[in-house]
Amino acid sequence: MDSRECLKLLREIKDAAFATVDRWGRPQVRIIDVMLVEDETLYFVTARGKDFYSQLTAGGPAGGAVAVTALTRDFEMIRLSGTAKKLGDQKRWVDKIFEANPVMNHVYPGDSRYILEPFCIAGPEIEYFDLGCSPIRRETYAAADPSCGGPIAEKGFSIGSSCVGCGRCVEVCPQKCVEEGTPYRIRQNNCLHCGLCFESCPAGAVTRKAGPSC
Ligand code: SF4
Ligand code: SF4
Repeated sequence: MDSRECLKLLREIKDAAFATVDRWGRPQVRIIDVMLVEDETLYFVTARGKDFYSQLTAGGPAGGAVAVTALTRDFEMIRLSGTAKKLGDQKRWVDKIFEANPVMNHVYPGDSRYILEPFCIAGPEIEYFDLGCSPIRRETYAAADPSCGGPIAEKGFSIGSSCVGCGRCVEVCPQKCVEEGTPYRIRQNNCLHCGLCFESCPAGAVTRKAGPSC
């Protein structure tokens, strides 16, 4: 799996949840079609009258910030975050997107399609999470273009040098993804980020990484 394959999966799923923040700082989410994927860029459209459009084009730190997630039938979750950019040459992009998604002609027949504006999310940070295998598998791909994806949020837990090797984390870990060593080590690709090791460690050697987790 790599970032291109993850984007390809998103295109196959097509109907994904797109989350933004509104002008009052409240989270908002809706289902949006992933219309195109080319190289490491995802394309979608929205109409100028929609709140989603206003949130994507608003100024300020949250303006254009978007998180996308979708689940395959096999319980593979793709999660992506980045900045949506409105594309120039609107009619050409809308026509191209309609060509790739003919069903759109039923929703926006004729020239009504041009109420839509095309957006892309280029080089986003992507997380692949396979809950259908044992142990679970988690992979993170950094933004190809950090100016689009923003800072990389390190998630989960790590074990530091104050580890005394008691083995408590190994006992409690539901995925058995802690390995012995000095210090003990978490196999990050199999970790649920559940925090049981963090709560159970008698030495306070397990620390939460900087970013949020779920
Ligand atoms: S529970 Fe804490 S001290 Fe014990 S092995 Fe795990 S990390 Fe090390
Ligand atoms: S966070 Fe949960 S899954 Fe990950 S190593 Fe700790 S106990 Fe195991």
